[in-house]
Amino acid sequence: MPGFEVLGKEERQQIMEVLDTGVLFRYEFAEQRRGIYKVREFEQAFAAYTGAACAQAVTSGTAALKVALRALGIGPGDEVITQGFTFVATWEAILEVGAIPVFAEIDQTLAMDPGDLKKKITDRTACIIPVHMLGGAADIDRITAIGAEAGVPVLEDTAQAAGGRVGGRHLGTFGRCGTFSFDPVKTLTTGEGGMIITDDEELWRAMSEYHDHGHDHLPNAGGRGGEGRHFLGDNYRMMELQGAIGLAQLAKLDAMIESQRAHKSRLQEAAAVLPGVEFRKHPDAAGDSATFFAFILQDEEQQRRVNTVLCEQGVGAISFADNSWHFYPRWEHLLAGSSRVASGWPFAEPGGRKRVVYDPDALPASVELMKRTLVYPVSIKMPESRLAQIATALQMAADA
Ligand SMILES: *Cc1c(COP(=O)(O)O)cnc(C)c1O
Repeated sequence: MPGFEVLGKEERQQIMEVLDTGVLFRYEFAEQRRGIYKVREFEQAFAAYTGAACAQAVTSGTAALKVALRALGIGPGDEVITQGFTFVATWEAILEVGAIPVFAEIDQTLAMDPGDLKKKITDRTACIIPVHMLGGAADIDRITAIGAEAGVPVLEDTAQAAGGRVGGRHLGTFGRCGTFSFDPVKTLTTGEGGMIITDDEELWRAMSEYHDHGHDHLPNAGGRGGEGRHFLGDNYRMMELQGAIGLAQLAKLDAMIESQRAHKSRLQEAAAVLPGVEFRKHPDAAGDSATFFAFILQDEEQQRRVNTVLCEQGVGAISFADNSWHFYPRWEHLLAGSSRVASGWPFAEPGGRKRVVYDPDALPASVELMKRTLVYPVSIKMPESRLAQIATALQMAADA
């Protein structure tokens, strides 16, 4: 799963090129940096790799979501529909820009259920954020079609699925924009970092300005800082060292995915022995970035029985039904509306009136599915001995 497995001399060499200039900032210092612009080069390489027209680097995947939502003009008064199975960052970003997250059910893609999405669109819906969970794609064609019909932009949270594709086309290029995370456990990692891609140059320009205090980055008589500002900004700038690591990691991404795919298919063959087992649905299985392998059992009882055997054999799988970082019924702070703001914002208005209350039982279909699902993380380097150990344990679970 994570790119840290393959950190090596390529990353080291890239970093040294930056340190040799002494310029850690992505802008300015034209003479001192001797033509070295690692963040800019990483943006161009990432856009070229995914086939997007524009890319904007930022400090994290969470920052990418916030910058993208702001650039789309989203704030208080808006609802943003996402899914109840995602990392907390997706809805933190929605709340942080002042909008209200609305949670849709997931289906067997383990991402947004298009049928439930349709039911949750209101006249306040300002954006739809499907999340390509666990390396695989959401039902992105149907989701973008629903968005287009409703006149609502789709932002793809592609934090977990860099390099994933559907029909050869990169995830993150189906919606108005797509966001990525390069945090320490993501496939392509820069330690911390994120990226937003879009074909909409005007939208990209808004992201570029917003992420750097409103600077327009156009040459002007006054130099950087001498220009005017179009709107309020913030600081989500990536630094040169991250750009440097990103360039080295991006060059390895396809090889990382290829190796993950080989390991994932071994796990899938091994899990096929489980009675009644189903696999997570992929809109295009060949495009799975294969950072995880998910298998779905007939009921919760079988899931628990199987995982007990796997745990006894030292190769227990993850049950996201019990995972408090990724699944709606386990987000106790969201359900309680807990905030550090004295007034209770963003869950309550400054006057104390509640803006939103989340019902723990709001997503029964997702709960039913997650209780049947088990997941193995897939690594780039997975020793034969571990794959064999998991296969043996799965066979024992099937026979039990
Ligand atoms: C990791 C992740 C993020 C946030 O990325 P950071 O770089 O850690 O801020 C957002 N969404 C999803 C689905 C993620 O898995």
